[in-house]
Amino acid sequence: MSVIFSGIQPSGTLTIGNYLGAMKHFTNLQDDNECYFCVVNQHAITVPQEKKALKQNSKSLAALYLASGIDPDKSTLFIQSEVPAHAQLGWILQCVSYIGELERMTQFKDKSTGKDAVSAGLLTYPPLMAADILLYGTEVVPVGDDQKQHIELTRNLAERFNRKFNDIFVMPDARIPKVGARIMSLQDPTRKMSKSDSNQNAYISMLDEPNTIIKKVKRAVTDSDGVVRFDKENKPAISNLLTIYSLCSGKSVEDIEAMYEGRGYGDFKAELGEVIAETLRPIQERYNELITSSELDDILDLGAEKANRKASKMLAKAERAMGLERKR
Ligand code: ATP
Ligand code: MG
Repeated sequence: MSVIFSGIQPSGTLTIGNYLGAMKHFTNLQDDNECYFCVVNQHAITVPQEKKALKQNSKSLAALYLASGIDPDKSTLFIQSEVPAHAQLGWILQCVSYIGELERMTQFKDKSTGKDAVSAGLLTYPPLMAADILLYGTEVVPVGDDQKQHIELTRNLAERFNRKFNDIFVMPDARIPKVGARIMSLQDPTRKMSKSDSNQNAYISMLDEPNTIIKKVKRAVTDSDGVVRFDKENKPAISNLLTIYSLCSGKSVEDIEAMYEGRGYGDFKAELGEVIAETLRPIQERYNELITSSELDDILDLGAEKANRKASKMLAKAERAMGLERKR
């Protein structure tokens, strides 16, 4: 039995990258662990968000967690801004972080390069993420490969705090899936698929209609040799599509290569579109029921209550350790 925490930003509609790299793995963890799943809306505002869209995306993300199998009787599902301890411990951890180490984060570099105005929050995102994790005494953080560096920083901050003030934080470990931890963009196989990509053809959203999915896969970039073969270095685009095919169908990459031997990319892509649509169909059906129900708000109210109860205890410990508490 471990404490598990994972968060997803409501910065757009989830992609199959988010699903295959993170969300899909959450449901198996619920039975034997204490799980916290969070809609990290305060992370989303590190880049500009439209008010109405942010609100909608937050609810939509909560519904997708449930539709993909998160059971509110087993797990705590909540919205980050509804648990103030995240921002409060986030501030404390900002004061434990060094600007230099934050500037070295690849996500900061990726998201700030070429932008005229970069918010201070984009730089101080990792201490807030560290707070998300450390508040719950988290031992395991199931995430995609891109978050590895932030988890390492979380460990460094926890270790630094424990050494300087008091030994209160548990050291978390990242759990990164062996396959699917970095699904690449359909338009550029050197970049990861991201829900905030400005080119909609670069990703498949978990709520895309079957026809849209099929079209986007058809438009995906490939190479010109026409052979369906896994070779990450020389055929990154086809290798990415093969990974997606394998994870969605449950077939091995070798079996899929054999199925398409002597056939071109056309057949492969058309069938991959169907396979993805079929994987998402039951999730979308359940999502459509949930998004219009009042059940969703009740679940999130209860989740915030449970999360607040646990998080406020760790926050009090951190404040006490630093001398931020008046009494005692
Ligand atoms: P944004 O572009 O706004 O950062 P994102 O698609 O990167 O959105 P996040 O909310 O930052 O999504 O990440 C949610 C989870 O999905 C994290 O665990 C992250 O590691 C994982 N993840 C994100 N992109 C991918 C990907 N391309 N492949 C596999 N996992 C991914
Ligand atoms: Mg991201």
